Amino acid sequence: MGMVKTKRRSMSPARRRRIFSAHDGVCGYCHELIEDGAAFEIDHAVPLALGGTDDDGPNAYPIHGDCHRLKTFGRKGGSRLPSDISAIAKAKRLRAKRLGLARPKRSCLTDPRWVRKVDGTVVPRAPASEHGEAA
Ligand SMILES: [Zn+2]
Repeated sequence: MGMVKTKRRSMSPARRRRIFSAHDGVCGYCHELIEDGAAFEIDHAVPLALGGTDDDGPNAYPIHGDCHRLKTFGRKGGSRLPSDISAIAKAKRLRAKRLGLARPKRSCLTDPRWVRKVDGTVVPRAPASEHGEAA
């Protein structure tokens, strides 16, 4: 169960060329042609951290360096784009939730209307006038 992180294979120049030509030199992010001789990177449609395959199949494609950073990290400030790191963080949150590890965003301990008693039960907080635990 759970995600299996794919082991990253080494990227040889021959592999880069193979992936580049398999996609006709089109950036997998902005879909524009990567100019001949321009710097490019290889990216994975499904991030390896999410179990994407690291072979020369369709999961790997060439991408502009700037596009790669945009895809991986989202835009800094301004509008947030879906990014790999947010997808990975979300997958981790969902996984933690399935395992029962996730804490509610707003814990009853920080909610001023509720108080947790010593035995673990959560009860409405007593009015300030009745300070201390009512028996
Ligand atoms: Zn691009």
